[in-house]
Formats: sequence, structure tokens, C-alpha cells
Amino acid sequence: MEGILGSDMGDFILALHEEHGVNFHLEDTVAAIAGKQVALKSGGKLDADLVIVGIGVRPRLTLAENAGLTMDRGVLVNEYLETSVPEIYAAGDIARWPDPHSRESIRVEHWVIAERQGQTAARNMLGQRRKFDAVPFFLEPALRLADQLCRPRRAMGQHRDRRRHQSQGLPAKIPA
Ligand SMILES: Cc1cc2nc3c(=O)[nH]c(=O)nc-3n(C[C@H](O)[C@H](O)[C@H](O)COP(=O)(O)OP(=O)(O)OC[C@H]3O[C@@H](n4cnc5c(N)ncnc54)[C@H](O)[C@@H]3O)c2cc1C
Repeated sequence: MEGILGSDMGDFILALHEEHGVNFHLEDTVAAIAGKQVALKSGGKLDADLVIVGIGVRPRLTLAENAGLTMDRGVLVNEYLETSVPEIYAAGDIARWPDPHSRESIRVEHWVIAERQGQTAARNMLGQRRKFDAVPFFLEPALRLADQLCRPRRAMGQHRDRRRHQSQGLPAKIPA
């Protein structure tokens, strides 16, 4: 998180999760999963009933590479989302564009960006010269942050959630 949002937000989100009992093993990685035990590269072992793997994705760039487009860890586009080849545009996960806010060349893998870039690219294909200058963002429904935002609706939803959990064979107790 620090890499994307800076150290202040990184520290904040880290502390928020730790306050809720989440343990981080930073700078470490999983070496093996055997039965209900996860072995860490550092030598540690963790017991786990469930392992959620967030591996990430790589953009498929072969078509763009073969088309001779300039690449830089994605397809490089200008502020109009036009690639190095005039009249060829790129949008979404594959596109690396000059972000006017950070003044850096960035590539973001979120559907809102893909959707908005698609709209801008389409307009530019139709001859409008629209710069893509949307602020990149994502929503992270994190623990207390989300809890605070959702509190008024929570009491109403709790009874329904408890019944749903029971019908799915999950524990009836919803964390407070
Ligand atoms: C597991 C997972 C969870 C995600 N969760 C979220 C989330 O919660 N919130 C969020 O904002 N984003 C999420 N994302 C990211 C989001 O899905 C992407 O940012 C978004 O789909 C990007 O849209 P896109 O059109 O750029 O690419 P894609 O949706 O990947 O579409 C690209 C299309 O091009 C096709 N294609 C590729 N190569 C070729 C070729 N050579 N010829 C023809 N067709 C080709 C592909 O088959 C695909 O259909 C998630 C992604 C994954 C994988």
C-alpha cells in the first residue's frame, strides 16, 4: 500500500488492520502450503484453515508488441491515450499513461479506470481531443473505516446477515 499511497497512508492502513488482529509478515513470502500449514520463506510456519492467494496479473501485450507499439511495462500512451502509432489507442489494464496529478507515468489495474479510459479513447477516436486526467482511485472496504461509514445501515442489516450466515452453515455470530 505504501508504494501506491505513500508512507502515511501505508502506515495508517497497516495500523488499522493490526488493531483488528491482523498479523502482517512483511518482506516475507509463502514457500509452501501443506495441508493446513503454510511455510514461510523466512522459516516460520502458520496454521491456516483457509488460504487466499493474491498473486496479481500480467497484461497480455503480445498483440501490441507485434504491432510495433512502444512499450514500457505496458503499452505507452500519451495524455490522449494514443499509442506511439497514430490512431491506435490503448485503455485499461495494459495502458501506461502520463498521470498529470503525480506527474508520473502510471498503469492501474482497476475497472473504473478501464471504463473511463475506454470512454476517453473512444471520444478521441471520434476526433475530440480529450486528455485523460481522472484521478486514480480505488475503494477499500477496510475494517473500521468501512464500519464507520456503514454504521447506520449495519444495525438494520445484522439480523438479516445472521439468518443468511445460518442458512449457509456459517457461524451465527457476526463480529461486532
Ligand atoms: C481476480 C480479479 C479481481 C479483480 N477485482 C477488482 C476489483 O474488485 N475492483 C477493480 O476495480 N478491479 C478489479 N480487478 C481488475 C479489473 O478486472 C481490471 O482492471 C479490468 O477488467 C480491466 O479492464 P480491461 O478492459 O483493461 O481488461 P480486461 O477486462 O482484462 O479485458 C481485456 C480483454 O481483451 C482480451 N484479449 C487479450 N488479448 C487479446 C488478443 N490478443 N486478441 C483478442 N482479445 C484479447 C481478453 O480476453 C479480455 O477479454 C480484478 C481483476 C482480477 C483478475
